[in-house]
Amino acid sequence: MQTSQDPEPLRAGQYNATLIYIHPIQEELMVIRVRPDDGVPPYLPGQYTTLGLGDWEPTNDPAHNEEVGENLKNRLIRRAYSISYPIFREDARAIVRPEELDYYEFYITLVQRKGEPGQEPSLTPRLFGLKKGERLWVGTKVTGHYTLDGIKRDNQIVLAATGTGEAPHNCMAAHLLRTGHRGSIVSIICVRYTQDLGYKATHEQLARMFPQYHYITLTTREKETLNQKVYIQDLVVSGELETRTGICLDPAMTHVYLCGNPSMIGVPKHIEGVKTYPSPPGMVELLESRGFKADYKKERGNIHFEEYW
Ligand SMILES: Cc1cc2nc3c(=O)[nH]c(=O)nc-3n(C[C@H](O)[C@H](O)[C@H](O)COP(=O)(O)OP(=O)(O)OC[C@H]3O[C@@H](n4cnc5c(N)ncnc54)[C@H](O)[C@@H]3O)c2cc1C
Repeated sequence: MQTSQDPEPLRAGQYNATLIYIHPIQEELMVIRVRPDDGVPPYLPGQYTTLGLGDWEPTNDPAHNEEVGENLKNRLIRRAYSISYPIFREDARAIVRPEELDYYEFYITLVQRKGEPGQEPSLTPRLFGLKKGERLWVGTKVTGHYTLDGIKRDNQIVLAATGTGEAPHNCMAAHLLRTGHRGSIVSIICVRYTQDLGYKATHEQLARMFPQYHYITLTTREKETLNQKVYIQDLVVSGELETRTGICLDPAMTHVYLCGNPSMIGVPKHIEGVKTYPSPPGMVELLESRGFKADYKKERGNIHFEEYW
């Protein structure tokens, strides 16, 4: 929806950051960089912050601007986004240090849903309508427990993501490799099409530079994979994760990070002391049956997860 009011005073009153870079991966996927007016506070790899735009902003496709209920007019629409990472300096020879960056990098997919009157308007169609140099709102805090807290130098780290769920893993992998992590690091990303692998070249470069870094991609909608879909869970069940990387999924020395689609993660419900896993099984059930233990409330295990919805 677009308000008849002049949006400039609304923007000036609410926005605190500038979009300084847009890299469209495909029409519905982009890497962006956002520079907050007051600088980037220190944060831990894996954490997230919030982006916001006014509901008065146009969407990327004006033909699909939403009907927004009267009560929501002139409000900021805010959503959580994991902080991704450019990984390399511009010459691609070394991993960039966080202190060198005065911006956040985000990896965002366009979620198309038809807004119903009275329903909360959505953010991504508006983010995809932004142009370089335009203003937006960014949260002043960075937060989240999905971090490398407790990781030891020799631990094996498996970073498994669907789609843009690789964002926090990019930040984690860069940190681990830059700071001399000794154990193997496996980054697995499952997407629909090869063109959805927004950081493919960067991961391949990392794998060439660091022998302990492994990059595994899975696609589910390409011609050759459409009828023979292999999901991240299948790599664990078949043992392929281990044969392809040479690691052993030993809970004593491995931490697994799961980010993105809740079905891939498969977080169990705990109701009146009874733990129930979703069906079909997600990664948590498969790994717990092999001796791993997921984070639960304040108890830290060796399976960590971030669900995007
Ligand atoms: C901690 C956290 C970190 C997040 N980090 C990212 C990130 O780095 N990149 C990112 O693209 N999204 C991320 N998300 C999701 C993001 O917050 C929004 O939900 C998403 O961008 C959709 O916003 P919207 O207002 O356009 O859609 P809404 O109107 O809020 O619709 C939400 C619906 O969109 C779907 N959806 C949400 N996120 C995705 C997604 N990534 N891929 C496919 N479908 C999705 C789900 O069905 C969900 O119910 C994160 C969510 C959380 C909780």
